[in-house]
Amino acid sequence: MLDSSLAQEIAEIDGVVLDSDVTFADLTTLHIGGKPRGAVRCQTIPALVSAIKLLDDASLPLLIVGGGSNLVVADGDLDVVAVIIEADDVSINLSDGLLTAEAGAVWDDVVQLSVEASLGGIECLSGIPGSAGATPVQNVGAYGTEVSDVLTRVQLLDRATYDVEWVEASALELSYRYSNLKFTNRAVVLAVELQLLTDGLSAPLRFGELGRRLAISEAEDHPRRPVGIVRDTVLELRRAKGMVVDPSDHDTWSAGSFFTNPIVTPEVADAVFDTVGEPTMPRFPAGEGKEKLSAAWLIERAGFKKGHPGAGAKASLSTKHTLALTNRGEADAADLVALAKEIRNGVFASFGVSLVPEPVWIGISIDD
Ligand SMILES: Cc1cc2nc3c(=O)[nH]c(=O)nc-3n(C[C@H](O)[C@H](O)[C@H](O)COP(=O)(O)OP(=O)(O)OC[C@H]3O[C@@H](n4cnc5c(N)ncnc54)[C@H](O)[C@@H]3O)c2cc1C
Repeated sequence: MLDSSLAQEIAEIDGVVLDSDVTFADLTTLHIGGKPRGAVRCQTIPALVSAIKLLDDASLPLLIVGGGSNLVVADGDLDVVAVIIEADDVSINLSDGLLTAEAGAVWDDVVQLSVEASLGGIECLSGIPGSAGATPVQNVGAYGTEVSDVLTRVQLLDRATYDVEWVEASALELSYRYSNLKFTNRAVVLAVELQLLTDGLSAPLRFGELGRRLAISEAEDHPRRPVGIVRDTVLELRRAKGMVVDPSDHDTWSAGSFFTNPIVTPEVADAVFDTVGEPTMPRFPAGEGKEKLSAAWLIERAGFKKGHPGAGAKASLSTKHTLALTNRGEADAADLVALAKEIRNGVFASFGVSLVPEPVWIGISIDD
């Protein structure tokens, strides 16, 4: 519970609604997690800034919550205040392709608006759940595109100085599922600015699963397709893998890909190859002396099938994708963590590769 005088001060902020009933099971796509000390819903950016300042002044631990699609939260009473961003304005300049979205805008709504406006650049990121403000936090990506490809600036609230300023995307050190905002709490993203393409075509597409579905040939140089067609195809591919949130489908009660694709030395990649002996083992260059392996492939080759450990389990791998750990309806945090440990330990025992979880953990850890 929030101290009553602080609760009153926060409730008096214009554009703030206090919610004392909500649990993290309500706020996350895994539908797991206990009760925060309180939840502060912020409908405008000034309200968000004021609420954070008051909570920080009172030294209360707070968690910024967007769509809750990258969170693993413990059960029980949690010593954290959930600050939920609901400010969701989006503006688009059709002539220069500049799109600005407030942090609480639903990311896929932003993608849909951009596609309806015939702007290219984020169509491959269709169907990723969560908020626009969270996209730079782990540099979301899919089908060969990352938000860093189009992100020009972010508006940040600095938690040390409470300055609000637009900073260049380069200041975030964006790389594969990383920014210097992730796990740090140093700043809150208030808005994002994207530079999109104005000719109605997608960003250049990579040859791969999406490219094959779009009948792109390896001979094509920088293949591009109409944005609407790319979005529809991406959504179709993602739905088949349970990667578009659908409350009626437990395969989507997840945090998406649970482990990042491991970056290893070529020697480790060779050792995995020697163990499995499959010529088609996925391995990709990942910078000087590094290679990226596929976490899903490693999980499967370590003997974990889709749906593991099977019907009746409270938490299991998705029946559509081995990289998603899912709540079958009644799982608690302990069920999910037990499954995560089993998968990580099994892959390590088979290949000596330690998988790293992608989501943010609150009040619980895979190492507990
Ligand atoms: C079915 C499914 C599919 C997914 N597919 C993909 C995918 O293809 N690619 C991919 O990259 N990810 C994917 N994800 C993961 C997830 O959707 C993204 O990481 C998304 O950007 C998280 O947004 P969110 O608003 O839900 O963040 P939350 O889960 O609410 O928060 C995640 C972290 O970001 C912080 N945060 C949130 N908003 C802000 C802000 N405005 N400022 C500062 N910190 C903030 C939170 O405090 C927390 O630490 C998937 C998840 C699911 C459930």
